[in-house]
Amino acid sequence: MRCNVCGSQSLAIIKSKGKNSKELLLECEECGNIFRETIDIGKPRDCRVVVSEFEKSHKSFIKLYPDEILKTGDVIEVDGREAEITSLENKKGGRVPKSPVEDINTIWASYLDTPARVGISVDYGGRILSEKVEVNRDFEFVIGDVIKMGNIIFSINSLKTMERKMRRGFARASVTKRVYGRPVDDKKFNHDLSSRVLR
Ligand SMILES: [Zn+2]
Repeated sequence: MRCNVCGSQSLAIIKSKGKNSKELLLECEECGNIFRETIDIGKPRDCRVVVSEFEKSHKSFIKLYPDEILKTGDVIEVDGREAEITSLENKKGGRVPKSPVEDINTIWASYLDTPARVGISVDYGGRILSEKVEVNRDFEFVIGDVIKMGNIIFSINSLKTMERKMRRGFARASVTKRVYGRPVDDKKFNHDLSSRVLR
């Protein structure tokens, strides 16, 4: 947008109204000219969401503007409940952490009012012990941390999140699908998830 008198692009918005198109009242910061301009911001469109709740998931649609930018961690409202975006699938079929709505094929989300369920696999030299734990969505699985789970003590050696496999760093429970560990003899541990194991 430019001032229709002096052509300057430094404009201040005095007033703005409208939904699908915005009617702006602008003041030029160069010459003081005040004028109106209408900009088209597009219609909101239906965007597909797969929202998960524990092991189940269902499809839904939410209305979003095409130029809106979404990223993982953002909170959206799905069927009247708050959900956190865990992954974005673009039209090329890739998983991306951030994207404008117009390039998104599917939004993956999970409801905020339910805890996260994460799979745990502990490798006893080829024999795998698998469990599921239910933890707060904010709980962080840190590679290298030692976890107690009943009479098992293991250290986390890798993580599988919605987007990738990780061999270092940490991930929030809300985006973690599985934690891989190896038993340790250590009796000291960082977290005791014994009461969090699902039976
Ligand atoms: Zn001007």
